Formats: sequence, C-alpha cells, structure tokens
Amino acid sequence: MANIGFIGLGNMGGPMAANLIKAGHSVSVFDLSKAAVATLVTAGATAAQSAKEAVTGAQFVISMLPAGAHVEGLYLSGDDPLFDHLAEDALVIDSSTIDAKTAQKVAAVAAQRDINFIDAPVSGGVGGAVAGTLSFMVGASEQQFANAKPILDVMGKNIFHAGVQGSGQIAKACNNMLLAILMTGTSEALNMGVKNGLDPKVLSEIMRLSSGGNWALELYNPFPGVMPNAPASNDYQGGFQTDLMFKDLGLAMELSQLSASPTPMGSQARALFNMHKVKGNGGLDFSSVIQQYQDQD
Ligand code: NAD
Repeated sequence: MANIGFIGLGNMGGPMAANLIKAGHSVSVFDLSKAAVATLVTAGATAAQSAKEAVTGAQFVISMLPAGAHVEGLYLSGDDPLFDHLAEDALVIDSSTIDAKTAQKVAAVAAQRDINFIDAPVSGGVGGAVAGTLSFMVGASEQQFANAKPILDVMGKNIFHAGVQGSGQIAKACNNMLLAILMTGTSEALNMGVKNGLDPKVLSEIMRLSSGGNWALELYNPFPGVMPNAPASNDYQGGFQTDLMFKDLGLAMELSQLSASPTPMGSQARALFNMHKVKGNGGLDFSSVIQQYQDQD
C-alpha cells in the first residue's frame, strides 16, 4: 500500500480520494476548504495543514483542481511551490482538466528537475468518481504510465495512455468538444422533428438505430421524458454542468488557436453553450442546451 498526498477535495477529488482510502492506501489530504478536509478525515484520511505537509514523504501526489492557474501556482509559482518539497522518486499525477500548454509547461520544469509529473484528466463525472469507474487520459512516458496505472485503476475503469506529457489534456479537449457537438446536433434534430409533429421517443429511437446514432441518443437524451434516468427528465439537475462544458470548450478553442486547427463545429457549439450560460443556465446539466432551440412560451 502506498503513501498518497491528495490536493483538491471538491466534487471529483473528494470521492476519488475516498476510493483510495477504501482500497487501503494511506492518504494525506489538503484543500483550501476545511469542510472538504473534514469529510475526508471521516472517511479515514489524515488531515494536512498545508499542501506541503500533504506531500511530505508521499510516493504519489494527486491534484484535482479547477484550472491551469491553480495547478501552476501549486507546483511552480505559488508562495511555497510543491516541486521544492517532493520525496525523491515521487510520481505527481495531475487529474485536473487544464489547458495543454500549462500541463506541458509544468511537465517541462519537472523534467529539468528530474521530477515525475504526468497529466491524467478524467471523464465520467461525479457519478464515475464515486463509483470508481472514471476514464483517465494520461500524458506520460511508458514507465511513468506503468507506475501510475495501479493507483489510477483504483479510481477508474478505463485507463488510456494518450502519449507524452500534455497528451491527456489534448485528448480530453478533443473528446469534450466532440461531445458538445453531438449534444447540440442531437438537440437540433430532435427539436426540428418534434416541432413538425413527431413523438420525441419515436424520433429518438429511429435516429439511435439509424446512421445518426450517437452517445447522446444512447445514454443521455436531451429531450425531457425520453429517458427516465437522464438529467433531462429531472429538470436538468445533476449530471455535467453547462459551466463545466463551457470551460472545456474554452480549452478546446485555445488548443485550436495555438495549433491553427480548424474547429468550425466546436466554435458553433461553444457559442450555443455561451448563450445558454448567460441566460442563467450555467448550473443546469449541459443537455439543457436543447432549450436554445425550443420556442419560449
Ligand atoms: P470543485 O470546484 O468541486 O473542486 C475543486 C477543489 O479544489 C475545491 O474544493 C477547492 O477548494 C480546491 N482548491 C482550489 N485551489 C486549491 C489550492 N491551491 N489548494 C488546495 N485546494 C484547492 O471542482 P470539481 O468538480 O471537483 O473539478 C475538479 C477538476 O475536475 C476540474 O478541473 C474539472 O474541470 C474537472 N472535471 C470535473 C468533472 C465534474 O463533473 N465535476 C468531470 C470531469 C472533470
């Protein structure tokens, strides 16, 4: 069993750390929120008073933070950067969803200092974090990936080696941009069919089993009442927030800009999610973007 330092115990990090504890690892935790730390202590973690204390003597350091600035601040540029305090041979796994450029920058500094730093963003949401069924997209060397895998296996089901450092973040941006395009496209088609008199359940089934079939139609139908367990049938509560999809599309657009990769569909999807967000829907599940197509009574 390993000594693990875990930093960032929010909606995702909290249950991920809890699964490591359940598997018998010794986990020292830190978060700016004392309440988040207290919850994990109840689950069997040791409370650290600082990030530095959490990583002292840790073989693995895992971070699950909001954005690139937090990750860079924690490891490189904050008051007391963690790269100055890691145990020899520690493996640092950043599972936050951040811009690939920051992931590559932090990894480059790590490499210069002989520190093992890998990016391993996740897909699967809070439900996947609780159930330990997340997908991890890892940017690392072969050896680092092999070293990280037993720990990632505890928190996830599908562990992918995407490539060198930064590749995990690139894969995540590509996947979520495609997801946004599929969700807006599915919403567009469903709304047109229903407005022209079709039953949403019948149309969904036709498209699901025809050449328009996709993940949204299989598992996450945006039209209320078609799938009893989808957020659409629960007033778009729970699930994956519009705010987070908007953030991820911003990361995809940044990657598109930096690499001059044309992303006309991704740009359209981002514009739709932006309009949806500014109308006050940031807290709703992202499938509620179908409301941008629907007549307002
Ligand atoms: P969250 O806001 O619930 O949690 C972030 C936590 O980080 C908070 O508890 C905050 O106090 C803590 N934090 C911030 N800065 C810190 C610092 N310097 N030191 C210690 N703690 C600090 O966010 P979340 O939903 O858990 O998401 C975390 C990451 O996972 C994000 O990058 C998000 O994009 C990604 N993600 C989220 C989901 C989801 O469904 N929520 C799914 C996939 C990926």
